[in-house]
Amino acid sequence: MTLLSALAADPARAAVIVDFDGTLAPIVDDPPAATPLPEAAATLDRLARCFGRVAVVSGRPVSFLRHHLPVDGLTLFGQYGVERSVGDGIETVPAAARWVEAVHRAADEAEAELPGLFVERKGTVAVGLHWRRRPDLEAAAVDLGHRLAGLHGLRLEPGRQTVELRPPLDVDKGTAVEELATGASAALFIGDDRGDLAAFDTLTRLVDEGRLTHAVRVAVRSSEAPAELLDRADFVVDGPRGALRLLDELVALVV
Ligand SMILES: [Mg+2]
Repeated sequence: MTLLSALAADPARAAVIVDFDGTLAPIVDDPPAATPLPEAAATLDRLARCFGRVAVVSGRPVSFLRHHLPVDGLTLFGQYGVERSVGDGIETVPAAARWVEAVHRAADEAEAELPGLFVERKGTVAVGLHWRRRPDLEAAAVDLGHRLAGLHGLRLEPGRQTVELRPPLDVDKGTAVEELATGASAALFIGDDRGDLAAFDTLTRLVDEGRLTHAVRVAVRSSEAPAELLDRADFVVDGPRGALRLLDELVALVV
């Protein structure tokens, strides 16, 4: 039995967990303008009808994910697990509240110090420093990110041509995946970036601990994909189109 058919064998007890940027949505120069591939919502809808739990886990705010993926039965974890969808509402990890002011100040200071850098306020609990449109600012942006993280007690997370400042909470894509996979017998995670390694680690550990029977780690290949992610994947797919193709195959194994 292949890994995918193991997942499809007992769909009610399987979790399918998907990253957003670079996985459902092509990477674009202007991060707020990113949109999922047109077929993505329909694929997630079919998955949600077949599998016990289907979720998107992303660094984006839940409000952004909900706007782009209006799919019934889809669970959304945003801000790397700091936010989650609960019915029509959004719940934020309570410990994040005391960091809102520090994140706000770091965003103001980044804008003042490096004009030309794109400073993205991601809700109230994270700020992204993006140099995709100004590659000449990379070194300065990384340096600024380190300084602001130290100054405000925030955590610096590297991404694709970006660094993000986030509260130093014990919450990441790994903890989100652990929660989503709890009670399932099999789980799949698909992602494209460094922040997705924590999700891969969690799946590996849950199998080692006997809490999952099967785990499927899927990496989305791109010119920017970290080698470590590709090396550790059970499957590698090409770009968001390849990711959707694999998810469609998974649906076809059930219906
Ligand atoms: Mg991604």
